[in-house]
Amino acid sequence: MPARPLLISPNSVLANALLRSIDVLRPRIHAMRPRRIEFVVGTQINGAPHLGTNLVQATAFLLAKAARREFPVETSVRFGALDNAPYDVVLDPETHHAYQITYFHALGKAGVDELIDRYYRAFFDSLSEATATDYTLETYTDQQASPAFRAEFLRTLARMDEFRWWMAPSHGVVHVRVPCSACGWAEKRADRTRLIHLDDDGAAFAAVCLDHGPYEVDVDPENDAYIDLATLYRNLVKERLLVRDGTTLRVMLKGGDWAFGSQLVDGALGVLDTPGARMPLRVFTPQVLAPTGAKLSKSLLRDRGDDSLPADVEPWMLDTTTWRGGTHDYVDALLWLVGELLTDPKHFFRSFTVKELGRLMHSRPADLAQRPRAHEMGIYKRYFDLIASGRKTTEIRVDDSSRKRLKTGDLLRFTCRDEEVLTRITRIARYADFEEMFEHEPVSSVNPTASKSDQLRNIREIYPPEREALGVVAIGIELVGP
Ligand SMILES: [Zn+2]
Repeated sequence: MPARPLLISPNSVLANALLRSIDVLRPRIHAMRPRRIEFVVGTQINGAPHLGTNLVQATAFLLAKAARREFPVETSVRFGALDNAPYDVVLDPETHHAYQITYFHALGKAGVDELIDRYYRAFFDSLSEATATDYTLETYTDQQASPAFRAEFLRTLARMDEFRWWMAPSHGVVHVRVPCSACGWAEKRADRTRLIHLDDDGAAFAAVCLDHGPYEVDVDPENDAYIDLATLYRNLVKERLLVRDGTTLRVMLKGGDWAFGSQLVDGALGVLDTPGARMPLRVFTPQVLAPTGAKLSKSLLRDRGDDSLPADVEPWMLDTTTWRGGTHDYVDALLWLVGELLTDPKHFFRSFTVKELGRLMHSRPADLAQRPRAHEMGIYKRYFDLIASGRKTTEIRVDDSSRKRLKTGDLLRFTCRDEEVLTRITRIARYADFEEMFEHEPVSSVNPTASKSDQLRNIREIYPPEREALGVVAIGIELVGP
């Protein structure tokens, strides 16, 4: 009897249209022919991450790895740390207007950096190492300070009347928060914040501070007045800005609950005459659901007390830093989980209860934790067999960014479908092209069964000229005993 499959998922409209999850990127890649793909993921910096947050982030790295092989282009991850998340909210006792202060204004840059280091740095470094994918990290504070973001904001501001009902369908008031320069607090719902002037050089806002009374703020592309945009508006500006680059494709990774909210952003993008080629490309990741079917929410649980914690929720799902076994162990488990979900679009484009995710995590291979960290390379069966038998001791690849991580002494795992073989890197040599490589590397160490001219022809069928132009790396390998 065949083993019971790990996962069973029903068909869906999107899954039915795809053979593999990564194919969801293909229409845009065909239309744009990007030189690079950057997977963009943003997270509110407001305490320990929960599973849903880490799931989106792990997906970004795994899709970056898969896209690099599939298309093939350079890929990376851009992590946006949203340090404009509210740190505290108070009510004006007289007017009952709500005021809030962001994490950045409450803790300062050093405090935000410390939070990022505590909750994300080691996690991202580990994801980056495990998937051979570079990442950059940017706070919202950095982003709003960039002239490009501010100019994009000012361009949209001029047409606010046309899209404000998309950004705020219930009342038409789009929240632009300009914190008081004396204390950093701002009106949460911008009740008394007014745009008083706008021209080609910039904008001026008037607002009222809880403690310091009326004040004015000038915003231009170059100055340092802080602009804190409500979530939908921030996404509108960010996505319009990111898709302007014609050589790098930006893919926005978002939790599945964003599928609903993105309709409003798309409405506003349409009003702003955004051409089809500049509509943002978004991938929605599985939602993590409580037993009721509602999204697992830390703030909801916090508001209602620990008694409301459903029995199926394991502590690490709410605070992933409590995972027993350290960062690498957690990341390896998470990458295994998301890797399984990505094997079939039916598994990936759906939601999961915490109970089902718990079951999946507990059924991961027992030896996963014992497996040493190693670089990974997929390889054709005929070469895989030559490596496994010890007859092939030099592996040849084009020298793209992921190869820059390879070091003598590192472990390198070759995979071919369900098989794998572990090797150790004995040396690294770099060459301008395949011809120069064969002048120095023994032909039989690359492939003992084929002539030099046959090998050159085969290898150039795998790598087109623009890939070979990256340079060639020869990797000396030896088998690592069991
Ligand atoms: Zn103030």
